[in-house]
Amino acid sequence: MRDYDIIIIGGGVVGSAIARELTRYQLRVGVLEKESDVCTHTSGRNTGMLHAGFLYKTGSLKAQCCVEGNREFDQVARELDVPFKRTGKLIVGFTEEHRQRLLTMLERGKANGVPGMELIDRKRMDEIDPSAGGNFAIFCPSSGILDPFTYTVALAENAVKNGAAYHLYTEVTGSEYLPDGRHVLHTTKGDFTCRWVVNSAGLNSAKISEMLGIPGYVIQPVKGEYFVLDKKAGAFAKIPVYPAPTERNTFDTHATPTVDGNVLVGPNSFNVEDGEDYSVRQTGMDGLQESGARMFKHMKREYYIRTFAGARPKRVDPATGEIQDFLIERRDEVPGVINLVGIESPGLTSALPIARRVVKLLQEKETLTPNPAFDPIRRGVPRFHEASCEEQARLIAENPDYGEIICRCETITRAEIVAAIHNPLGVCTVNGIKVRTRASMGRCQGGYCETRITALIREELGKAVTDMRLGNGESTMFTGYVKGGEQA
Ligand SMILES: Cc1cc2nc3c(=O)[nH]c(=O)nc-3n(C[C@H](O)[C@H](O)[C@H](O)COP(=O)(O)OP(=O)(O)OC[C@H]3O[C@@H](n4cnc5c(N)ncnc54)[C@H](O)[C@@H]3O)c2cc1C
Repeated sequence: MRDYDIIIIGGGVVGSAIARELTRYQLRVGVLEKESDVCTHTSGRNTGMLHAGFLYKTGSLKAQCCVEGNREFDQVARELDVPFKRTGKLIVGFTEEHRQRLLTMLERGKANGVPGMELIDRKRMDEIDPSAGGNFAIFCPSSGILDPFTYTVALAENAVKNGAAYHLYTEVTGSEYLPDGRHVLHTTKGDFTCRWVVNSAGLNSAKISEMLGIPGYVIQPVKGEYFVLDKKAGAFAKIPVYPAPTERNTFDTHATPTVDGNVLVGPNSFNVEDGEDYSVRQTGMDGLQESGARMFKHMKREYYIRTFAGARPKRVDPATGEIQDFLIERRDEVPGVINLVGIESPGLTSALPIARRVVKLLQEKETLTPNPAFDPIRRGVPRFHEASCEEQARLIAENPDYGEIICRCETITRAEIVAAIHNPLGVCTVNGIKVRTRASMGRCQGGYCETRITALIREELGKAVTDMRLGNGESTMFTGYVKGGEQA
């Protein structure tokens, strides 16, 4: 039985932000994550926008956390060494009705404390980004783009550096209260005990809430599908381009450059039963082709390199189906539980502000002693393709593994992959290396480098070929050797 002061169920961006913030205090922090890595579900399946906060109801937690998260992100990105660009955003309109909706949005943005938003004409739009569709737009300078994989991994690594323990492949299946008020969490990897439990289980948050003694919440998974476009298309995309909000105050398909130079076109939005089914539909992709072309003039088939999907865990009113605010609560009648339900968009932007609210709820019940050893700084592995020629020469001189390119599309070196294999969370799947380095995210989607990455994982960790996994789940990549080769 493993014992912690506080256990977080779910190691996505929110659970990892909470783990990091809790390690500022002298607490034994454990994170239980059912999957092989921290950004397997919603945290690795989104647009990667640092939202500004103009879409959400004034005074709501979504608005407050989003504006707070946006404001602090330059410093957060520096502390955690994660790529981030404050690009600004265009929210474009074509009709008079769009103009009215945009003006309402502008007023809400002002009321929420979003700085610098303005209505601009086509001439000004052309100066900002001629590839953007639309006749006029709201320009919001504080929006930005980040890499959700690197950010989630960085938060988790910083939490581990400061003393948190991650238990991957560990699904919480039940819980009990002990007579002394502690909790026992039953998992697929045995039992854990703790004084406090934080429910940060994303799409499963209503189920875990009920398991911990707070029933009645309903999560409606709302799926979104995307196209990823090649960097050749990215060369045209300077700034995220969103359409005017719909009547229900949501956004349809948008075109968003990524920090690494690709373009994401999507997501669409539809209710599903199973939020963890990430298949995409032909009809959905056909729809994206059409709606995406209205936002981004270079939406061409030759630029498509892959598709993906994610699901927003929307908390809905059980009676009306109406979408609700983020829920972050502690109830005296359910001691030792901090409950997060419905952390949908803008959850990526809001992760650290949400985490601070969790700490505050804990502080209402006990005095926390600061951890004098807490270090907010996390350093990533130097990215060879981003370095100047002089810097590249220095890296190779220091470590000749920087001189061997393993992923040709993304120019990822052996040194970066070896460093990723020895990551602080101990993730050793091929997808785990992909999200840490970008190897296999390029045009060929791993056709060239996947076998090389597999070989490197085996070499570095001494793994048998039959133990190699692509990502989640029990299934392995290989059953053995053909033609009587080396034995597994
Ligand atoms: C299509 C889409 C676009 C979005 N775009 C943006 C955006 O641009 N900007 C933005 O700010 N936000 C965006 N979001 C929202 C953002 O991605 C989420 O709010 C955020 O990732 C939620 O993080 P999380 O940690 O709560 O959830 P998750 O990442 O889903 O983490 C929850 C974790 O809990 C684990 N878990 C569940 N049940 C158990 C169990 N029983 N035992 C152990 N572990 C368990 C899961 O495996 C999972 O890893 C978007 C979301 C979607 C779907």
